[in-house]
Amino acid sequence: MSIAENLTKIKSSLPQNVTLIAVTKTKPLEDLMEAYNNNHKIFGENKVQEMTTKYEQLPKDIQWHLIGHLQTNKVKYIADFVHMIHSVDSEKLADEINKQAIKKGRKINCLMQMYIAKEDTKFGFDENELNSFIQSNPIEKYQGINWCGVMGMATFTDNTIQIKNEFANLKKIFNDLKSGYFAYNTDFKEISMGMSDDYKLAIEEGSTMIRVGSAIFGSRNYNI
Ligand SMILES: *Cc1c(COP(=O)(O)O)cnc(C)c1O
Repeated sequence: MSIAENLTKIKSSLPQNVTLIAVTKTKPLEDLMEAYNNNHKIFGENKVQEMTTKYEQLPKDIQWHLIGHLQTNKVKYIADFVHMIHSVDSEKLADEINKQAIKKGRKINCLMQMYIAKEDTKFGFDENELNSFIQSNPIEKYQGINWCGVMGMATFTDNTIQIKNEFANLKKIFNDLKSGYFAYNTDFKEISMGMSDDYKLAIEEGSTMIRVGSAIFGSRNYNI
């Protein structure tokens, strides 16, 4: 199936409140334009360099989501155009995003990335780190950040029960924040979870943003 057909099929199956982020990493501009011409303008990239290059060459009404691990020294390259950063996983990174956002005179939408997997290759706050981050009062502290919710990645496994439990755990973390510290923050409403292989499960567990790459654009070839 073509990119356009994949997009149409996935979108028609989504509940109204779920946003599809088309993950375009490693894919050429033509593929992004095929999605764009099919009226899809929400893209996710995991590397700063690749995102800025694509941003410069493509139409300016695209929403760019940074979904991968972000190094503090690279925030400045995306601060004036990124729509949302899904991968805030330390106070140091939040400090830098805030600084760059204020410099650009804007607020940047951010999600707190939570560590929900049983793997040591994934990033994110664990529950203790989240608690001390919340203690630092990030709403007051960061005038350049608009906190929109949480993000997480499940373990890479075939065990659907485990994946389901990890998503349910992220939903619970979200609920606690939503009814607690972020109770007066109306933009705090997103749970970014689910990829090509597990987005249906993620939606059942309450996802509001799915990040889907290969199911739209085909498998990635990292050797080219
Ligand atoms: C690559 C990537 C995705 C999309 O993965 P697919 O399996 O191709 O859908 C989602 N989230 C993050 C953080 C990624 O790096």
